[in-house]
Amino acid sequence: MKGNRVDIVHVLGSGSAKPTANRINSSYLIETACLSLIDCSGSPSHEILRRGLDITVLRHVYLTHGHADHIYGLPSLIHSLWMLGLFREEPLAIYGSPKTLEVGRALLAPFGLEERKNAVRIQWNPVNAWSATDLNSQYGPPVTSFPVTHGNDEAVGYRLADTIFTGDAVCDDLLASAVDETARSIIIDCGGGLSSTPGHAGADDIADFLRRRPHLVSAHLTHVGFSSDEEELVLEKFLDCLASVRLLSDGDQFELS
Ligand SMILES: [Zn+2]
Ligand SMILES: [Zn+2]
Repeated sequence: MKGNRVDIVHVLGSGSAKPTANRINSSYLIETACLSLIDCSGSPSHEILRRGLDITVLRHVYLTHGHADHIYGLPSLIHSLWMLGLFREEPLAIYGSPKTLEVGRALLAPFGLEERKNAVRIQWNPVNAWSATDLNSQYGPPVTSFPVTHGNDEAVGYRLADTIFTGDAVCDDLLASAVDETARSIIIDCGGGLSSTPGHAGADDIADFLRRRPHLVSAHLTHVGFSSDEEELVLEKFLDCLASVRLLSDGDQFELS
């Protein structure tokens, strides 16, 4: 929080790659002194405008990895910003592992979005996919990227202030080393449902992870691909956890810890 302003996490999408009726692919809009996106699915420019927020203060896009469900909104975002005549001088900063940024640039190429007249200026910022790194946070809260395990991909998570965004990840030592005792809140991939699957955490191992980290005050389960019938069973796994645990829904908003 700065002065009277509260920093807010807007949940643009809480779904996994597997489509369901109620959730679009997971991504988040962080409202601080500026706006930042974590992942880029759906139609981010529309989501910013319909909340009545100022799209001209969008500064950062933090990409967790290059899978389609996390990055397909990028051409739409850049095209919209070009239509609005924004970012002709001040660049938009996009962060991700080298492999993720390669996917991002390749997605823009067929539309010539980086070449056209008055193109949006993009500053491509590769983050280290193998160790935790502090990023430039000129306009917002402190941001750190950290590596996570998600198949063989160069996947990373991000920490903004005391909130951890895991992106797609399993609960292993790599994630544990990113969640130190100063972390307060975690937005965590529960794509496995009741139990982990290759590349995704599940309720069993997330509950175990939380029990070992009583300093975490809240845990938000996301990247949900299981049916609503399963939701109660998933939440039952957390009954003995100290943290307040909830399943995210599209449109949720809460304070950034
Ligand atoms: Zn995913
Ligand atoms: Zn993925």
